[in-house]
Amino acid sequence: TKRIKVIGGGLAGPEAALQAARLGCEVDLYEMRPTRSTEAHQTGDFAELVCSNSLKSESENTAPWLLKQEMRRAGSILLAEADASAVPAGHALAVDRVEFSRRVAERIAAEPRITVHREEVLTLDENDPNTITILASGPLTSPALAAELQRLTGRDQLAFYDSISPIVDASTINIDRVYFAARYDKGTADYINCPFTKEEYDTFLDALISAEAVPAKSWEQIPTQQTSGAPFVTASSSRVGSTEASPATPEKLHYFEGCLPIEETARRGRDTLRFGPMKPVGLTDPKTGRWPYAVVQLRQENLRADSYNLVGFQNHLKFGEQNRVLKLIPGLENATFLRYGQIHRNTYINAPTLLTETLQLRAHPSIMIAGQLSGVEGYTESIASGMLAGRYAASLAQGNAPTPAPRASANGSLTHYITHAEGKRFQPANITFDLLIPLEEELRKKIRDKKERHKLQCDRALEVWDKWLTAPTE
Ligand code: FAD
Repeated sequence: TKRIKVIGGGLAGPEAALQAARLGCEVDLYEMRPTRSTEAHQTGDFAELVCSNSLKSESENTAPWLLKQEMRRAGSILLAEADASAVPAGHALAVDRVEFSRRVAERIAAEPRITVHREEVLTLDENDPNTITILASGPLTSPALAAELQRLTGRDQLAFYDSISPIVDASTINIDRVYFAARYDKGTADYINCPFTKEEYDTFLDALISAEAVPAKSWEQIPTQQTSGAPFVTASSSRVGSTEASPATPEKLHYFEGCLPIEETARRGRDTLRFGPMKPVGLTDPKTGRWPYAVVQLRQENLRADSYNLVGFQNHLKFGEQNRVLKLIPGLENATFLRYGQIHRNTYINAPTLLTETLQLRAHPSIMIAGQLSGVEGYTESIASGMLAGRYAASLAQGNAPTPAPRASANGSLTHYITHAEGKRFQPANITFDLLIPLEEELRKKIRDKKERHKLQCDRALEVWDKWLTAPTE
């Protein structure tokens, strides 16, 4: 039997270590805190919740509930300790964070098969025939380890930022002022285009440049060692996939070229946006028969087409400012924004190209990735991912081929998303019904009530999940 090396004592790491140990494996668990901390952690404790204390909804037949139900049935140890540390929080599972960490530490200490190492891991040995490694070093993976991961995956396969564009409620777009079109009429006209005259563009640009940004925390700058490559990343940007390395110095370089906030692009010159994300070429306005001076493109956000995101409009402005400035876009005068743009530090891999469904690196199968680093988003999702990684690692260590969680389950859907999403635009995800297998058209029509439909999806998920738990090799 091989040994299992788990890197990271946050959420995914301890869960993975405890699962693998429970399945009979010898585990080395590495955590660099308290010797070296991250920019968000405040303690040296295992399972520290870095921000809120909520593990999301416990309302029956919601997607976060389903994920947790599956985890409970599978014997997730951290979730059991979260349940035991719960504090009153309405329909959510919120925990006493100190008690939660204490309980997790107790479980680790009580497990003779786990050896804890309080040190920063600086290298990865992909050729060690005796070890299965689970990398669960999180969104703030230390720079040395991130560089090591880049060595294994390729520089452009690791992102250091999450950037999301604002989303607008479709019913609040002024349809009379916008038009559907595809650039040069190529392909289907899926985008809504908001056309600008020169005057409108100038007004918008001035407002954008002078709008107030969210103050950057010092740790939101990219650590020096991470500045050398440009990631594949950027949210809903039209320039995703940019691999140009920026010539900027580390001190100046807060963002990679591909995920530059819109207000930064705007500051580079009055025409930069018109030649970038607001490029009008090939987008003939049917009202004038000409290309407008500039456009903002809106891309459908979900299958229901009831919301659209503003392509390439990731930004770091205060929400109130976004509400004011974005309403200067023709067609969005009275828009309601369902989400505002945001950018934050988040290290994660391009899982769709790199990972197998059993969370192994395709090119180096003895190395597995779990938690936020694998492209899932959220406390519970990270624990779930650690739970799966621990089980898969135990199978691998014992010479068996692990069977991935079933696609129809919430756990399987999350893995399916990170391993099958479009690589160029890959963004981390929480569990939602959008990731689960949709109901057949016929049933969708027949069952009018959304809650009923969700219940059916949950019933189906739990049924296949239970089967997988009892006979995971089938
Ligand atoms: P972590 O919990 O970060 O664990 C990784 C561990 O690896 C850390 O303990 C770190 O010290 C260690 N480590 C890193 N590098 C090395 C190394 N080289 N050697 C040894 N150890 C190393 N999600 C929510 O659901 N709700 C929230 O409110 C929320 N707030 C967040 C706020 C911030 C600032 C951030 C960054 C993320 C937030 N998240 C939130 C997202 C996510 O759920 C958490 O980051 C979660 O902790 C991820 O779990 P993890 O196990 O993948 O990583």
